[in-house]
Amino acid sequence: MSDMRLIVAGAGGRMGRALTRVISETPGAVLTGALEAPGSELLGKDAGVLAGLPANGILLSADLWKLSADADGILDFTVPGATIANVAIAAERGLVHVIGTTGLSSSDDAVIKSVTSRAIVVKSGNMSLGVNLLAALVKRVAQSLDESFDIEILEMHHRAKVDAPSGTALLLGEAAAAGRRIALDQHSARGRDGQTGARRSGDIGFASLRGGTAVGDHSVIFAGPMERIELTHRAEDRTMFAQGAIKAALWARGQKPGFYSMADVLGLND
Ligand code: NAP
Repeated sequence: MSDMRLIVAGAGGRMGRALTRVISETPGAVLTGALEAPGSELLGKDAGVLAGLPANGILLSADLWKLSADADGILDFTVPGATIANVAIAAERGLVHVIGTTGLSSSDDAVIKSVTSRAIVVKSGNMSLGVNLLAALVKRVAQSLDESFDIEILEMHHRAKVDAPSGTALLLGEAAAAGRRIALDQHSARGRDGQTGARRSGDIGFASLRGGTAVGDHSVIFAGPMERIELTHRAEDRTMFAQGAIKAALWARGQKPGFYSMADVLGLND
């Protein structure tokens, strides 16, 4: 099969630059387009140079329709509004759409799912092997422990992160809720402050810390009577998210239209 031609959306961002670097090292993948926000001062700049590589001749553009004429997939780590705008074009052009953007609302998710009868979408709040393994573990532990164990999810990210709780914290919360066979949206406690009253039994709690350059730390705490289990993942470099996203694109190329997660890509759903 020919190399998979990939567009990086948000090519000037932290993840976008990491994606450009990892694509250049990945056999079977080639960068053919770099998308940035309309009006960005980075438009027209070379994606390779921005990523700390030699110039590669791929200049940042805001025109996905044009870029997608010569592409097989788009790796999208941007902002919710941009990702939703990209969904229709990616579906129309038959591109594999790998979505890493977090902070999407439930109505955004509905828009994404609405195209998956004809389009291939892989979406995950975290593309790393370690976090997806952690999620499988969290589900298993939550299945084994009853409500006498309170579940709390603690995350820390760099000071520039704009959404909370993180997409990964929510992914881990969904895994815990699946293990307990409950709906997360009806059993989550987010942002406690002031006279909150006692903890509601069965809730899954979230707490978010922001500061410095932390790439992403997550702990899932099962706090029971007289003992506590803590499962922790620490991301040290965003390269692994980029590697996961490219792996997802290469895997998705041969799949039927549908909505897939990183657990599907990594074979963790069996
Ligand atoms: P970032 O550095 O702010 O990068 C986002 C980039 O998207 C910026 O360059 C931004 O440009 C650009 N953008 C905004 N609107 C756009 C548009 N309409 N079209 C194209 N590009 C547009 O953020 P980041 O740290 O790379 O993270 C990006 C997203 O990925 C966040 O939602 C983050 O939570 C998520 N993330 C996910 C994973 C995962 O594994 N799933 C891992 C890490 C991060 P401007 O600066 O000009 O607005």
